[in-house]
Amino acid sequence: MYQTKAYSVASSTSPFTAATIPRRETTERDVQIEILFCGICHSDLHTARDEWSSVMPTVYPCVPGHEIIGRVSKVGTAVTQFKAGDLVGVGCMVDSDHVCPACQDHQEQFCTDSTFTYNSPDKHGIAPVTYGGYSESIVVDERFVLRVPANLDLAGVAPLLCAGITTYSPIRRWGDLKGKKVGIVGLGGLGHMGVKFARAFGAQVVVFTTSPDKKEDALRLGAHEVIISTNAEEMKRQAGTFNFILDTIAAEHNINVYINMLGRDGNITLVGAPDTPLKVSAFALLFGRKSLSGSLIGGIKETQEMLDFCAEHNITSDVEVIPIQKINEAYERLVKSDVKYRFSIDMASLKAE
Ligand code: NAP
Ligand code: ZN
Repeated sequence: MYQTKAYSVASSTSPFTAATIPRRETTERDVQIEILFCGICHSDLHTARDEWSSVMPTVYPCVPGHEIIGRVSKVGTAVTQFKAGDLVGVGCMVDSDHVCPACQDHQEQFCTDSTFTYNSPDKHGIAPVTYGGYSESIVVDERFVLRVPANLDLAGVAPLLCAGITTYSPIRRWGDLKGKKVGIVGLGGLGHMGVKFARAFGAQVVVFTTSPDKKEDALRLGAHEVIISTNAEEMKRQAGTFNFILDTIAAEHNINVYINMLGRDGNITLVGAPDTPLKVSAFALLFGRKSLSGSLIGGIKETQEMLDFCAEHNITSDVEVIPIQKINEAYERLVKSDVKYRFSIDMASLKAE
């Protein structure tokens, strides 16, 4: 066991403060990573503030962070895929049981014994729960470490590890989007990646936003059209016209408005995870045989495929790079949807403390 610097919260109402946390020494299959950048996902905020207490209660102290980019500093004796000096990434998972049908199918996110990067019981017994990427270094089983393209801006690559795969996966799963009308609801960390991917796959992309000041950006990011969702007239005109809608909203909202935007056999997939249940109108689904689905990140194989796709198409997240000392301010801005479009923490700032 060794100690590494981190930023943690002590309770759901505490601010982040500097801390020291334990990490395991690299075992045979482990990769030790010196963290360079870590994105701030809204799930980090939901967890730090225990907003998902009914489903996944938070154990404190809590160190979030699952959009990790770093450089390998050490590898275990049985590691075959990585060596010291390699650029790598770690997303939302650090382990699973490797044998269940979900794991066999490369869908480790649905393994009932998967270990999430933070706030999961620590199988190695170093701490009560796993600690995430708001820290100097992390030790991860090589099967959960991703190869990172060297040609991309690393601060903007970090968010691909969650926001990227969470939007790429359902968009790919939906099928051939060429010429199809696709709605992206909410232009935040996930939403802006959804726009980039939907556009890259040839869709006619429409963004729904509550923030009029994001309109120009949405077009620059790849949207063909932007609808201000508070404008009833604009919304009415879109009814019944979409093939697929990706809903990334982090808070309670009326999903029926968006179900009504779907055409026959259209699908709306939820990736946003508000803490309160959404009310769904049966009639909105029945008429037009529409469907409502959910999607959770993506498997490791698909995450690598997404990173390779991004390398080939020069896709990264639009980030505002911050030092870790600004994290409390960043969280306040995230709640207000005031980030364009992901905070990425430069971990050199933690080293310097
Ligand atoms: P984010 O950056 O805060 O973006 C969410 C966006 O939703 C905001 O920018 C805002 O966009 C819109 N929004 C926020 N509050 C709203 C409200 N009350 N009514 C309508 N729109 C609202 O968050 P994120 O990191 O993209 O995460 C989004 C959600 O996905 C979170 O709940 C997160 O936990 C969840 N998530 C799920 C997965 C998964 O695997 N399914 C993975 C990662 C994250 P506009 O300003 O454009 O309106
Ligand atoms: Zn996330």
